[in-house]
Amino acid sequence: MTPHESDLPAPDATSAAEVGEADLPYLRRCVELAAEALAAGDLPFGSVLVDADGGIRAEDRNREITTNDPTAHPEFALARWAAAHLKPDERAAATVYTSGEHCPMCAAAHGWVGLGRIVYASSSRQAREWKAEWGVPLTSPLSPLTVRDIVPGLEVAGPVPELAAQVRGLQWRRLRAKQGAGE
Ligand SMILES: [Zn+2]
Repeated sequence: MTPHESDLPAPDATSAAEVGEADLPYLRRCVELAAEALAAGDLPFGSVLVDADGGIRAEDRNREITTNDPTAHPEFALARWAAAHLKPDERAAATVYTSGEHCPMCAAAHGWVGLGRIVYASSSRQAREWKAEWGVPLTSPLSPLTVRDIVPGLEVAGPVPELAAQVRGLQWRRLRAKQGAGE
C-alpha cells in the first residue's frame, strides 16, 4: 500500500445507477463549465443549479486563480446565490449538479442554505486517486470528508464513469499547464 492509499476515504457509497438519464445533460454542462474555467486559467470545475421543473437557474465555474480567492468554488457560489434568490422550499427542491463532488466547505454551505439533491460527475475520492497516481501532493487543508459526512441524509448520486474520465482529462491538462507555467 502506498502512503496515499492509506489517506483515502471509504469507497464511494453511491453508484452511477442512481444517476438517471435526465441528469446527464446537466452533468455534461458542468463538464463544459469546467473546461471553460480551465481555458480561463482557473481550476477545471463547474456546477449548475436546477429547479424542481428542470430549469437551470444558475451556473458557475471555478474562479480561484483569476480572483485569487481559494473559496471561489462554483458550488459555494451557487449556495450563496440560492440563499439570495430562492425561497426555502425552492432550495429544498433544487438539485445541484457538479463536475467534481463538493469539498467540505461547499457541502457545508449547501447544507446550511437547505439545498436538495447533489449529483456529481466525479467523486472526491477519484480526485485523490488521480493525484496519487500522478504523484501530485494533496494540497487541501481540509479533512477528506464526503458530502454524506458533512450533510447526513442528503440525497447524493455519482460518479458517472464516462464523465469522470472527461474530468480526469481536464485535471490532467490543468496539471500540465501548471507545470509549464512553473506554478
Ligand atoms: Zn468547494
